[in-house]
Amino acid sequence: MDVRPVVLILGGTTEARELATELHAGGDVRVVTSLAGVVRAPAKPAGDLRIGGFGGPEGLADWLVAHAVTAVVDATHPFAATISANAVSACRREDVPLIRLVRPGWVPDDGDRWHRVGSGQAAAALLPGLGDRVFLSTGGYQLTEFTRLDLWFLLRSIEPPRMPLPPRSEVVLARGPFSLDEERALLRRHRIDVLVTKDAGGPRPAAKLTAARELGLPVVMIDRPALPAAAEAGDVASAVRAVREVTG
Ligand code: NAP
Repeated sequence: MDVRPVVLILGGTTEARELATELHAGGDVRVVTSLAGVVRAPAKPAGDLRIGGFGGPEGLADWLVAHAVTAVVDATHPFAATISANAVSACRREDVPLIRLVRPGWVPDDGDRWHRVGSGQAAAALLPGLGDRVFLSTGGYQLTEFTRLDLWFLLRSIEPPRMPLPPRSEVVLARGPFSLDEERALLRRHRIDVLVTKDAGGPRPAAKLTAARELGLPVVMIDRPALPAAAEAGDVASAVRAVREVTG
């Protein structure tokens, strides 16, 4: 029988996979990664994998009890606000330690022309004044706000978007990371005037941001949604240390 502490990683990010690799390699905890199931062929993380929603905060709380979870790491994307809120409430209900692994937000560099906005709706309101050809690099998640605009959109996502697209648009299916050369070529090939992105963040600026700066393009940067408070780790190494503290 496996008596090791169980660590549930709420995944869907590169950091979640890196954390699973690190913790699994240590051998002293059993690692279970959970994915929402939005990507059809996800990269398999080290340790165990479960796929699909839990059924809200109550379902997650019940899952923690049923699987004797010792600690949860919420390593989901900074814009996955529902699961992060569910994790806070489920862990509180069952008194299970929760660590949120959250990458730092992006910071503008000299020459960047960023317009920070609080929502996709605010981004859509700003766009008509910034250009006609838009690279909407928000993934397949947040399109509804843009479908009413009479602008041309380049969309990029891993899976085909499941929601209605803006009437004038082209979809590129691709999985990052993308190099600076690729991003520069993409912006030039499609004669992009303005880039829209979410502040996904990370240790380095994304290549698309550097390419936009080089080409002098404005960027509409959508701020992260507010989340309920939780203990935070800013990188994988800090999350490993935090897990070790609670699992002994
Ligand atoms: P969300 O709005 O916060 O969550 C929607 C529902 O999906 C949740 O209520 C939960 O269902 C389920 N879910 C989400 N993440 C899960 C996970 N790791 N394991 C099990 N169930 C999960 O999330 P989202 O924005 O749709 O993102 C879905 C997944 O894609 C996340 O895991 C996230 O890390 C990843 N992702 C998101 C973005 C983005 O921009 N939002 C970008 C890259 C990757 P139940 O309530 O039934 O438990």
